[in-house]
Amino acid sequence: LMQISIPLNFIGFLYREIRQGLADIESMFDLLLVPAEIKDKPDAAPLKAVEGAIRFKDVRFHYDADRPILKGIDFEVPAGKSIAIVGPSGAGKSTISRLLFRFYDVSGGAVEIDGQDVRDVTQESVRLAIGMVPQDTVLFNDTIAYNIRYGRPDATDEEVREAARMAQIQDFIENLPQGYQSEVGERGLKLSGGEKQRVAIARTILKAPPILILDEATSALDTHTEREIQSALDQVSKNRTTLVIAHRLSTVVNADQIIVLEAGQIAERGTHLELLDKNGLYASMWARQREADEAEERLRAAREND
Ligand code: ATP
Repeated sequence: LMQISIPLNFIGFLYREIRQGLADIESMFDLLLVPAEIKDKPDAAPLKAVEGAIRFKDVRFHYDADRPILKGIDFEVPAGKSIAIVGPSGAGKSTISRLLFRFYDVSGGAVEIDGQDVRDVTQESVRLAIGMVPQDTVLFNDTIAYNIRYGRPDATDEEVREAARMAQIQDFIENLPQGYQSEVGERGLKLSGGEKQRVAIARTILKAPPILILDEATSALDTHTEREIQSALDQVSKNRTTLVIAHRLSTVVNADQIIVLEAGQIAERGTHLELLDKNGLYASMWARQREADEAEERLRAAREND
């Protein structure tokens, strides 16, 4: 009896998860990304009164037991403030955002939202409280309007247009022959990386979550696109607790707090100016980024003069 009841239960579980997953691509990603051991406690209640304060308390984490990734991370972000996490590739920046989302449970310490341990509340309420603008946005094979409205299915046309305006994608859309009814995705219009990201920003503006995670694009965008995206991001992060995973440094200058992560530990923290003053790791990363940006500008200018 045991032997047959376990697989049947499992199939039932899969069926329910997949059925929900198809109705909601975010939970489909959850299904793919969340290891099976992440489960709600039997008595888990939703997050209460979400203001959006974040706290990491001596967080330790490893994917594989013999290789610690985060080695005691402590920081606090008051509701509505912003934090940027910078540091060399592989330092553990994206891992921090995954723990906030509770894609994984910490190996030690705790992650709290408004003083509530994310392990004690429902995963659904945590995911609802957090909006994520990823590096690579996946669009549905549907209209632009559908893709934006996905952030809040009951939004009116007017609200969709307002979100597009705030995300700096409205002019682009209105210049398309079919406007908001243009089909995008595999079979429709192919959008550039920057355009897709702005659709994701508009979607997040509609969702209006108290907490925002921005995973900045690794690849260099041209200066104009970067400026447009930056101003769209400034709009969406206004009055929201914002965690920026910064792969480049250009977006972190205005963060309320910057954390420099090195090999799973916080090497430095402060504002942009405080960190430049310290003349440490951040200052040298900044100098290197400046040199790279200037070299790129010179190349571009030379090309334009040809
Ligand atoms: P980057 O700037 O290159 O994106 P990062 O600072 O965001 O890097 P993370 O993605 O947090 O780095 O990865 C930290 C370390 O954890 C890396 O060494 C990576 O190889 C490892 N890692 C990430 N995801 C997994 C996983 N699912 N299983 C095992 N190891 C992982």
